[in-house]
Amino acid sequence: MGDISTKQTAEAQVLSSIRAASAKNHSATHLLHAALREVLGDAVTQKGSLVSSEVLRFDFAYDKPVSAAEIMRVERLVNEQIQANTPARIEHMSIDEAMSQGAMALFGEKYGSDVRVLTMGTDRIVDGQRKPFSIELCGGLHVQRTGDIGVLKITSESGIAAGIRRVEAVTGMNAVKNIQQSEQQLSELASQLKVKRPEVAQRVRTMADKQRDLEKQLERLQQKNRQCSSSQFA
Ligand SMILES: [Zn+2]
Repeated sequence: MGDISTKQTAEAQVLSSIRAASAKNHSATHLLHAALREVLGDAVTQKGSLVSSEVLRFDFAYDKPVSAAEIMRVERLVNEQIQANTPARIEHMSIDEAMSQGAMALFGEKYGSDVRVLTMGTDRIVDGQRKPFSIELCGGLHVQRTGDIGVLKITSESGIAAGIRRVEAVTGMNAVKNIQQSEQQLSELASQLKVKRPEVAQRVRTMADKQRDLEKQLERLQQKNRQCSSSQFA
């Protein structure tokens, strides 16, 4: 198989786009971890993560549900870092040097004396010290700049065990696809309810109120009906 056929080239391209999509999700996972800690506090510790070319999943220790407003803040923070388009820096250093720079390591994981440190995002001052948005030990494949991630959309947040939460998200074109699907669903709802999109929630509330009223009326009528029929036979 010494010849290069057209088919082989096509396969190589598919592979590299899958690798690129995985790299986006992987780098985004690090930004997500940092954003979760910023919004929910240092109690957030990584319990596991799964990265594919399609989705990213991040499990962490946290003992209460995360509110919709908190999720929105996390999502905004990550996207701010994506927009800032800072380079993802990879450096090799001793584990002690990495720790002194505030790099996060996975608890219980064994590391050699030399480690690979990934730094991403804009610098900020934490306890009087300059610290990058995200600094973690990692041996994986990453984007060159945060802007390569494109956009991050959190698709779900749930509890998976006592004290363990799971966030799932998509990036790049998968995020665009997800946003378009949600837009389509909202448009369909608006058209079914015959209102403009921003009025959907109000319309649903009005319908629920109306239904409650009707149910009460029906109950009263049924009660009256029972009274009537029992007096007929009295
Ligand atoms: Zn990593």
